[in-house]
Amino acid sequence: MLNIIILGAPGSGKGTQAKKLIANSEFKQYPSSSGLIHISTGDLLREEMDKNTELGVHITDAMNKGEYVSDAHASQLVMNKTHEYGGYRVDGFVFDGFPRTLPQCLFLDRLLASFQAEVNVVINLDVDNLTLIERLLERGKTSARPEDKNKKIIIQRIKTYYEDIESIHKYWSDIIIDINGNGTPEEVNQRIINALSGESTK
Ligand code: ADP
Repeated sequence: MLNIIILGAPGSGKGTQAKKLIANSEFKQYPSSSGLIHISTGDLLREEMDKNTELGVHITDAMNKGEYVSDAHASQLVMNKTHEYGGYRVDGFVFDGFPRTLPQCLFLDRLLASFQAEVNVVINLDVDNLTLIERLLERGKTSARPEDKNKKIIIQRIKTYYEDIESIHKYWSDIIIDINGNGTPEEVNQRIINALSGESTK
């Protein structure tokens, strides 16, 4: 399996780049295999939110404040999603928005170990804060996500991100690759593909 984490602040383009990676058939090992599977905790949490359960209310509250949901909830959703693929020939997962804390890193290692797999590479998308804020405000004009419309919440989300990020970078320091996340989605995708092919020829 090829398991990739895409790390980056809100607005850094994690989701966009994850979608481009899973669309790339180069990562398919066998005609009958699935290719890479995209796991976005943001998407999983929004699905849960729409169900209006008690957990849904907790998630809405955290998101609206620009804070994280609990590690246990985020981890549980990721575990459920990976287990949906039990028995299939999965070429690997692209994790987008997970892990965001150290306990989530430890959880992911244990989860992948249960599939005799591991995290192979961490792509760190580097984008300066002003560009992040501009991108999120732009996204807020057309998206249904209320947390993209409010500058105060956007700034709080970026702050929340920086609280844990140092320990996460340290945790994955052996396999992390810094990618310049400025530019068009295609340019950034090309940088990632180049970096990944460099990795496979190491
Ligand atoms: P962004 O990267 O723009 O913040 P996401 O869709 O990835 O967007 O996440 C939206 C929100 O969902 C986050 O601000 C946070 O509240 C919550 N969230 C997403 N992933 C996690 C996670 N791994 N742990 C805790 N909370 C999370």
